[in-house]
Amino acid sequence: MKSFRTAVCESAWKCCALTLLTAALLAVATFAQEFNPNDPGEPPHGRTKLQLLPRPKGAISRQSVDEKSMRALIHQLVGCGTRLTISSWTDPKRGVGCGRDQVVARLNEIAKESGGRLQVVVDKFEAASKRTSGNPVPMENIYAILPGSDPKFAKTVFLVSGHMDSRPSDDMDPNLEAPGADDDASGTAVSVECARLLSKLAASGQGKFRATLLFAAVSGEEQGLLGSTHLLEWLKQQGYTVGGMLDDDIVGADRAPGEPHRVRIFSGSGEIDDCDSPSRELARAIEEIDGRGAIRMIFRVDRFGRGGDHYPFYKAGIPAVRFTEPLEEYSQQHQTPRTENGVEYGDLEKYLDFRFMGDVARDNAEALRQLAMSPAPPTLSTLEGAVTPNAKVSWSAEDDPDRAGFEILWRETTEARWQVFEFVPAGNEAVLKGVSTDNHYFAVRAVGKNGARSLAVPTEMDANRRGSYSR
Ligand SMILES: [Zn+2]
Repeated sequence: MKSFRTAVCESAWKCCALTLLTAALLAVATFAQEFNPNDPGEPPHGRTKLQLLPRPKGAISRQSVDEKSMRALIHQLVGCGTRLTISSWTDPKRGVGCGRDQVVARLNEIAKESGGRLQVVVDKFEAASKRTSGNPVPMENIYAILPGSDPKFAKTVFLVSGHMDSRPSDDMDPNLEAPGADDDASGTAVSVECARLLSKLAASGQGKFRATLLFAAVSGEEQGLLGSTHLLEWLKQQGYTVGGMLDDDIVGADRAPGEPHRVRIFSGSGEIDDCDSPSRELARAIEEIDGRGAIRMIFRVDRFGRGGDHYPFYKAGIPAVRFTEPLEEYSQQHQTPRTENGVEYGDLEKYLDFRFMGDVARDNAEALRQLAMSPAPPTLSTLEGAVTPNAKVSWSAEDDPDRAGFEILWRETTEARWQVFEFVPAGNEAVLKGVSTDNHYFAVRAVGKNGARSLAVPTEMDANRRGSYSR
């Protein structure tokens, strides 16, 4: 049977003309994609010359990350043989208790250098799941806490967490080796390095963190997110409100070919139709702080069919995201080290890339720095103006002498990222003249005098008006 192309290309002339026409059409299509990034009907006209407050000075530099200490901590953790949560908590040489000792020792060193600002807490509890055979087993989480300097925000906490436990192929067997270098000694090392970078800034007076920062190394992840579920309960019991939760899990390698690639940030879509969950706003905030060259936002709660410690927070409606390296190698995850049919299995130190991991540590630390410096997000933001020519955005927020004002954000409904429409120094509403309520999404965020931005709060329809419009 003749193919379509052979049938059309009966003569050389026809074939050549067809090829040229196809090439021309492709060129036009490519041109349109490359040079018209906005929807042609409605570019954000006339809003490009806004005078916006610059972001906070003193960004954490890549050079200030201590890769050597991260490497040393991971080496010690791997040296514990296994860190399965149901292994020994008391043997100093082998098991999850050995892992805990390494993390606590390193955090105590850092706390000492912080002039006593950083407080190290070991939180002991019991938890049960299918992967503890349904029996409550002893568990421990480690928290290093850097209290906020503003009494109003000291009970708001931004946290970063890695899980110190690991697992072999059989998640019920503590006798098997489970080095867990990438999953998740890497995330633990990132959390600990953030504690060092930020407590150092606080101690030197260069970092004024209004909110409290917490650096966690949890257990029980591989037994069913038991440690992070407990951490969320613990925070509630201590009276904290979680401003944002950064889960770092499998952030130690960059196996994709070429140069180091962007770390992925996973954020769930929530349950509303425009995909603006609190977790999504945290992801957007981190991308804005660290840049698109560093962060690859993925609009999914986690990798397909998989889970992590941010999940209990996300399900509770708290802003929570997961950091994971660009491309995972499954023969190096959840595998007892061995060679089978010429394939080497196991989560070994030799696969780690400290250049990449150091980038991830910097990006986490800088995001936490700016978030902890920011004013509180508006408590509510509302959109009115249906069936009128103007959109009216209003919001409520508590008094804050360190706040410079609010940014009104908007985006095309098909766009992933916010743009600033307007800065409003005072008041609690803005009328967007000639802007339809229908064709964009809107949000409001608070801006500190220091330039730090709160998370964005997408507008909702005024509850009193909901459903009252006639068609
Ligand atoms: Zn993990």
